[in-house]
Amino acid sequence: MSSRNFELWIRPLTLVSQAGDLVILEAPNPYLKEWFEDNYLQTASSVLEELSGRKIEIQILLRNRNLNDDGSKDGISGSTVTAPALPSPASSANRDLNERYRFDSFVIGPSNQFAAAASQLVAQRPGEKYNPLFIYGGTGLGKTHLLQAIGHAMLDSRPSCQVTYLTSERFVNECIASMRLRKMEEFREKYRQRSDVLLLDDVQFFEGKDSNEQEFFHTFNALYERGRQIVITSDKPANQMPRLTERLKSRFQWGLIADIVPPELDTRISILKQKARHDNIQLPDDVAIFLATSIQSNVRELEGALIRLAAFSSLQGRSISVEFAERTLGNLIERNRGKISPEIIQREVAAFFNLRTSDLKSQRRPRAISFPRQIAMHLCRKHTTASLTEVGRLFGGKDHTTVLSADRKMRRLSEEEQEIQDTISALEQRLGL
Ligand code: ADP
Ligand code: MG
Repeated sequence: MSSRNFELWIRPLTLVSQAGDLVILEAPNPYLKEWFEDNYLQTASSVLEELSGRKIEIQILLRNRNLNDDGSKDGISGSTVTAPALPSPASSANRDLNERYRFDSFVIGPSNQFAAAASQLVAQRPGEKYNPLFIYGGTGLGKTHLLQAIGHAMLDSRPSCQVTYLTSERFVNECIASMRLRKMEEFREKYRQRSDVLLLDDVQFFEGKDSNEQEFFHTFNALYERGRQIVITSDKPANQMPRLTERLKSRFQWGLIADIVPPELDTRISILKQKARHDNIQLPDDVAIFLATSIQSNVRELEGALIRLAAFSSLQGRSISVEFAERTLGNLIERNRGKISPEIIQREVAAFFNLRTSDLKSQRRPRAISFPRQIAMHLCRKHTTASLTEVGRLFGGKDHTTVLSADRKMRRLSEEEQEIQDTISALEQRLGL
């Protein structure tokens, strides 16, 4: 199925219990439950049957089942099961915040250190120095996690504080609905007057939606003037959103800008281990390393791989091993194989030689820097689709001939000198190549 359908119809479901041949899921609303039953139940059953080698029955319940007026229980499909005791929903002062997205579950590494520190500072001293805080980075790298962690931390220290978390998509939808229903006053009151902190996720969605962007601009100003903290995330930096108005973009520069890049190998391993611990998954070290080297550019996919492994291992009653992971995640790993980017290569090479990526991009020529730089250029040529010019640009604007000669030199040296060949293989291994 498409990832969009998956997000819409499958992601909101939760697994309530799985015992013997019965799997119980829970849907947040009757609509979703019905849709799943009509469209996906059959497929889900046959997939489970294929995986486990036996017939598995799926029941889907409604979350927060209440007794109906006639005293019958609501939401149980079929009549044979008695519902198992459900875990009580996590108590949260703000139901827009995901309980899992807290600072203490966020693994910090060089790739996200700055954004995490800025977020923590803002949560401690909202509206003071870093207003707005603008966090940007690729998908699945923890922007939403950090944004919501700010909300949680603020509510923890000041329970009465009004935290408003929403995506810009929801802002747009509510804005449009309020206009239609002539309820703009209410809409404005809600966002401009009643928020102590505004956490706006995925601002790139405003691009090209002029009237909604304008509404947000005024919301921003109203909050800012009253010293309220604003935090914004985006999947790209402001200057790469040509369809956003200049005046809004310039507001984003007023405060602090922090980026998040894909995590290094060590951080990826820590994230996996943390997640496994949290979910009680037995994850051997070699499997953690295997996953972390196979999936590099997206933490969400990394987590997804772990969840998938855990689900398959429990369905098939097998323990998780590298061989099991390879078999189970075949497609996912294949898909990630071509995904290695010059940026990832630069980071791993720099870390390997104890340098900073800025050294690789600099004009400095001592061998301790130029040698790693040439290796990194060579690896970019060998393992990515980036052109010579592009590689040159990513290394601080070097000429394409520089890249070409570095690549040639390393190819030759790796044939002639064992030591260089070993270095390159070690790096490739770290990169999961
Ligand atoms: P984004 O909003 O940048 O697309 P998310 O915040 O939704 O990404 O993160 C995707 C998933 O990866 C979430 O489940 C999040 O908890 C997890 N994640 C990302 N970075 C980290 C990290 N540093 N430590 C722990 N979990 C992380
Ligand atoms: Mg997000």
